[in-house]
Formats: sequence, C-alpha cells, structure tokens
Amino acid sequence: MILMQGKGVSKGVVKGPIYFYQRGAVTVSTAKAADIEAERRRLEEAKEESMEQLGSLADKAREEAGDESAMLFETHAMFVEDEDFVDCMNAALEEEHCTAERAVEIAGERFAAMLAAMDDAYMQARAADIKDVARRILNNLMGVVEGGIDSQEPVILAADDLAPSETLQMDKSKILGFITQGGSGNSHTAILARTMGIPAICGLGGALKEEMNGRMAYIDGETGQAAIEPDDITLAAFQAKYEKQQELKVLLETMKGQEDVTLDGRSMMVYCNIGSPEDVAAVLSNDGQGIGLFRSEFLYLAAGDYPTEEEQFQAYKEVAAAMEGKRVVIRTLDIGADKQVDYFQMQKEDNPALGVRAIRICLNRPEVFRTQLRALYRASAYGKVAIMFPMITSVWEVRECKRACQKVMAELDAEGIPYRKDTEIGIMIETPASVLVAEELAREVDFFSVGTNDLTQYTLACDRQANDLGKFFDPHHPAVLRALKIAADAAHKAGIWIGICGELGADLSLLDTFLAIGIDELSVSPASVLPLRAEIRKSIAKTCTLEKLEC
Ligand code: PEP
Ligand code: MG
Repeated sequence: MILMQGKGVSKGVVKGPIYFYQRGAVTVSTAKAADIEAERRRLEEAKEESMEQLGSLADKAREEAGDESAMLFETHAMFVEDEDFVDCMNAALEEEHCTAERAVEIAGERFAAMLAAMDDAYMQARAADIKDVARRILNNLMGVVEGGIDSQEPVILAADDLAPSETLQMDKSKILGFITQGGSGNSHTAILARTMGIPAICGLGGALKEEMNGRMAYIDGETGQAAIEPDDITLAAFQAKYEKQQELKVLLETMKGQEDVTLDGRSMMVYCNIGSPEDVAAVLSNDGQGIGLFRSEFLYLAAGDYPTEEEQFQAYKEVAAAMEGKRVVIRTLDIGADKQVDYFQMQKEDNPALGVRAIRICLNRPEVFRTQLRALYRASAYGKVAIMFPMITSVWEVRECKRACQKVMAELDAEGIPYRKDTEIGIMIETPASVLVAEELAREVDFFSVGTNDLTQYTLACDRQANDLGKFFDPHHPAVLRALKIAADAAHKAGIWIGICGELGADLSLLDTFLAIGIDELSVSPASVLPLRAEIRKSIAKTCTLEKLEC
C-alpha cells in the first residue's frame, strides 16, 4: 500500500484506477533524419489523420452547437492543407534534413510568428489556430492522445496540475476523481470539481508519480488522503466513510422542498454556482433556489475561438428558461490570472492577478463586451436574468458598464428584439477598494455579491493559486469578515441585497457569522445546498458589530 496526503478540495470518497493525464507538450528531437522520403510519408499520413479528426469534430460541433461552431474545425482543416503551410513543412524537411515532427514544429512556429506580426487583428488571431493545427499533426505523428482519456472504464485522473481549460475539455463521464501534485483549493480547477461534485485532492507533491498509472486507488476528497492498493485496515476505513457518505445523502434528501429559514424566521437565499448550462441539472436535483454565479468565462475557456452572440445567447437562454423564473446571476467575462484563453492573445504579465483581467478586459475591448451584453439582454426575455460585473474597484467602472448596457438596450429596442428592461445589475465585491467605496457603489447597482476567493487574496496579499501559503491564506481572518460587514452595511443602507458567491459561502462554521453580518444570499456548489439548508434550519440569527469580528 502507498498512502499519500494532500489537500482535500472537493468532498467524496471514490475508488478507481489511476490514469495519468497526457498533456500535448511533447519534446521533439532535433536529430537528423535517416530517410527523408520516409519522413515525408509519415507527414502525409499524420496530415490525413488530422483531416479525418477535424472532419468528425466539425460534424459533432454542427450537430451539438450549429454551423458557426463547426467552422472553427473547418478552418483548421483548411490550414492542414494550406499550400504555403505544406510548402513550409516540406522545405524544413529538405533544408534541415530533420524528422517529420521537427518539420511540423518549425513550420508551425514560422507561420504563427508571421500571422502574429500582421496588421490585421483577424489574421493575428489565426496564429493561435495554426499552433493548434501544428500540435494536432505533431500529436498524430507521436501517437499522443491529448487531453483524452484513453480508457474504457472511469478513472481517477492524476496530473501535475490542471488548467481550468483542460478540466473543461475532458469527458466528465470518465472521471471519478482528480488528484494533482500541485494546485490549491482556491484554483478554478478545484472550484470546477466542486461544481461538478467530483471528489478531488491537490498538493500531493512528488508522492504522486507517473508510474502509479493503472494502479487501483481510493481517494477521500475531504481528508485529502489517497491510498494506492490499500491494506485491509485502510480499505475498511475508506469503505466505512463511503457508507456514511451514502447515509448522509439519504438524510439530506429530506431537506428538499424545505424553506431556507432559521428557527427565528430569518430567510437566507441559497443559490448555486455553475460554469455551464449542463450544471443546471445538479442545481435542480439539489433544489437550489436560484443561480448566484454563472461563471460565463467557462464558455470562452471551453471554446477554441470567441463564442458568438448567438452561441452565448443559446447558453444563457437555456439556463434562464430551465430555472423557470428563479433568479440567474450571470457574471460577465472574468478571464485573466489562472483563466487564460489563447485566442485573446493577451500580453504576458509578471503579476496576472494584478493585471488586465475581468472587467478591465471588457472595458478595454468594447466589442467583446457588447457581444456578451447583447446575448445576456436577449436571454433576459426567457427568465429572471441578473447581470454581474467582476473585479470592480471604482465607481467610474460601474458607470461605464451601465453605459454599455444602455447602449445595448437601445440597439435591441431599435431592432425590435425583446428583453427585460428591469434586468438587475450587480457587482462583485472582491477587492479591498470596492469595500472601501461600497457606499458609493451601492447607490449605482441592484445587488452586491462578495467574491471571497479574490477578496481574501487581495486583502491578505496571498496568492490564491499557491499551494504552500498554508495558514497565511485564511478566509476567516477578521480583515475579511470585517470587509464583509462593511459591504453588507453599505448595501443595506442603499436598500440592496448582498450575497456571497466565493467558496467561503459554503463554510458551515461561518454560517452564524454570515447571519449576524446580515448576508442575504449564499451561492454555493450544488452539492452544498442541502447541507447548508440543514444548518440554516437549525440556526438562530443574531446581529453583530464590526468590533465583534475579532482577531
Ligand atoms: C471569487 O473571487 O470569490 C469568485 C467567486 O470569483 P472567482 O473565484 O471566479 O474569481
Ligand atoms: Mg473572483
């Protein structure tokens, strides 16, 4: 037996074979090729295989998301056969006397650099496409199944670390759990695991090794323990925990249909965090009373190119309609920091968490913003949509966002497209600056939602991605709790509601504090709704002053 200890970031006990994630980052040899003709034939075969894959992907995309989505793969297929690109690969073979792999690598780099240097923004954006195409041909040459899970049975997916975009593109039906060497509980991959209800452990470090591939493991996403081929005693402990988990599930079923009210009659809105329309099923099955945070950027992360207005509209409409009049708070694009999207071609930053991210990108790129706002307002005709802006620090940003909304509404009026004029507009409180100007901000909007993940990061000057900050990253710190109280008082003074959509919202040990502070809504992963409801129904709401939130 091998026992490993990491940080449990998404609860649940599961058993399954370990499968090491194969990333496409492959090392290409620069050695000379023995037989150029043989290399040319290998290259032809890899191109043909790529064409077949792209054809199937285009068909699948057309079926599931329409013609526009299929176009991306059709464009990639055109690149595979592009005369200049093919000439460039053949020239590299001749000049360098190299392998087919090296020729593809050289041609991909040259072509991408040439496109990126063009004046035309559209052509610049195609540099990411050519890199994608080159990677596909390379993978086919080297037999790499990128991001794919080449297993018939569901597995415990192991990796050094996982980017949110990688997690999103995986086939979830094949994943029982995640275990990673690095990562942190506040990363978006951990958040995604919780949203999907998949047990996960991060920070296992060097104890997790590639040679464990295929071995049977048990993982406990609460304690952070993973056991490879456990002995009888360990196995019995995991089994007991698993059975307890099943019993608790049955018990929590009785919470369905009950109100989220304390013993003394104080209501709390219990909403859910989601990342895609597919997550709505879990919201409904866990009896979530609304959606407090739809991280719309996951639509961008899962795509290979800017999602169109129509694609976004369909996604938002689907969620709004499925929630049948219950509030659906959709956050506008929040990329940057750990959520990198290649086709945005963002400049590399030394401190991306302090850089051009979230609302800053939208205000800098009005066309991207306008497309999303149009989709959001159009979807508002199909349910109770609320729009929320992330990473706000200043009043002028909110006013600029509202002006963009006004412009979009005027466009829709002129085009005769229906939307709800009274669509709520809210902001995230996730920077110390927004807390300090909360009174002024509250006068501008309909609600606040506190992003405690970032608020903790920026208040305590602790990187939320780092896995070794330990006790220094402390969301229970009085500075964070007092920030919540300042924002709540400002919200109530202006007559608006305030929620929490960061991970802290599901922390049952803080429920009394949230009630005392005056929080009106908690938005949590779907699996946390019923445990939270059970706790609310046992609580008595008190009030508190700022000083009571002690050090
Ligand atoms: C937060 O910062 O708490 C939040 C909800 O947003 P995200 O985790 O997506 O940054
Ligand atoms: Mg945030």
